[in-house]
Amino acid sequence: LGARLHGALNQLSRASVVDDTVIDALLKELCAALLEADVNVKLVSQLRTKVKAKVKKSLEEAEKAGGREANKKNVVQKAVFDELVSLVDPGTEPYKPVKGKTNVLMAVGIQGAGKTTTCTKLAVHYQRRGFRSCLVCADTFRAGAFDQLKQNATKAKIPFYGSYTETDPVAIAALGVEKFRKERFDVIIVDTSGRHKQESELFEEMVAIGEAVRPDMTIMVLDASIGQAAEGQSRAFKDSADFGAIIVTKLDGHAKGGGAISAVAATKTPIIFLGTGEHLHDLERFAPQPFVSKLLGMGDVQGLVEHMQDMARANPDRQKDLAKKLEQGKFSIRDWREQLSNIMSMGSLSKIASMIPGLPAGMMDGGEEEAGAKLKRMIFITDAMRQDELDSDGTIFVSFDKAGNPIGLNRRAKRVARGSGTSVREVEELLAQARMMAGMARQAGGQNGWMSTMQKMQ
Ligand code: GDP
Ligand code: MG
Repeated sequence: LGARLHGALNQLSRASVVDDTVIDALLKELCAALLEADVNVKLVSQLRTKVKAKVKKSLEEAEKAGGREANKKNVVQKAVFDELVSLVDPGTEPYKPVKGKTNVLMAVGIQGAGKTTTCTKLAVHYQRRGFRSCLVCADTFRAGAFDQLKQNATKAKIPFYGSYTETDPVAIAALGVEKFRKERFDVIIVDTSGRHKQESELFEEMVAIGEAVRPDMTIMVLDASIGQAAEGQSRAFKDSADFGAIIVTKLDGHAKGGGAISAVAATKTPIIFLGTGEHLHDLERFAPQPFVSKLLGMGDVQGLVEHMQDMARANPDRQKDLAKKLEQGKFSIRDWREQLSNIMSMGSLSKIASMIPGLPAGMMDGGEEEAGAKLKRMIFITDAMRQDELDSDGTIFVSFDKAGNPIGLNRRAKRVARGSGTSVREVEELLAQARMMAGMARQAGGQNGWMSTMQKMQ
């Protein structure tokens, strides 16, 4: 999906004039890509109408203001971006766990959706952010459910509660939450049972558990591979046991994740995380704007900074001053290089690569090998740099005219390209990334950090 959307936008940027033919071609490709990803036909056709109307209106305004073609391209790109965002943004804010109180989260969904796995991932996620987290197994329906949760929790070093003898899930949930509340845990996550289908018995059980533990947030866990059935399933759950957030799992397979978007539209409920694998760390925070930005190949610099901060927290020895540097807004090419090699050494490369702005379209579809090869080339570039160049912010590679305006890359950049067996274009890419990281570092934690970065990039 990403590669196709990015390709469509590239075509736009190559067009010499922005006329109806160009816009129609873009819209056609955009809609085809969305349909292929299993987004509901009705939603796609609404999107098409809206983008068209928006583009028309904005182009008329741009025309009046004596718009150049370049401006018009931005207008079209922005309309596409905004409408894609509104497709995944229900306009309601999900609950965010608060420090200093006990936050109870409850997962619901059909059997096999990924609830138990996701509950553990969530516990790890919050634990890492300084919330004391724990798990309660209220699944007495599936044989071995408690053993599974116990195994996951033990592996993740998360305290858990459950029972082999008690058969009433409501009683277990109530006891578990009560126990952990007394022990002043910050985040208590209640895992519930599922059934093979939506069944009244399941809904009754969910409602009863909900009444017993009064969750601050009920999360519906949705398997991406069910495609457009996500709409009906989420509606059925919403009608019986209201939920305030969605987590879409199994997006790492060849699932057509677009179906889940229909669930968001149908239930007006925000997606908060994506499950992207079976491992504990395969959980990505979801937010509409960065998600669309990644889809369109614009990267997700804020996500990257957050990821780096996470890694710094997980390896305090190895990265002890990164967090500080990020806070102070100091970020040299050497820092970027260090991050790149950390990225290489851990976690899913294709996932991370999709967060780096300006990498070739489709790299996230190309898989681990391709992403790894690209990251390696980026490191080769830094390997060819001298000490003072590494310690710089990258300005050292730029030539300026007498008035102080940048006029292009200098001989240093050419030397580095030659020395690393890459191209000046790739060196330029890396410098742009380091620059963006530095800019982002300056704003990390800032209110509108991500938006202002996006604006600067356009
Ligand atoms: P539950 O019945 O809803 O509790 O589902 P489980 O948590 O037991 O998960 C069912 C299966 O899906 C297990 O084999 C999990 O490892 C797998 N699973 C869960 N989340 C993901 C994911 O994001 N990606 C992949 N590939 N597998 C997942
Ligand atoms: Mg389970």
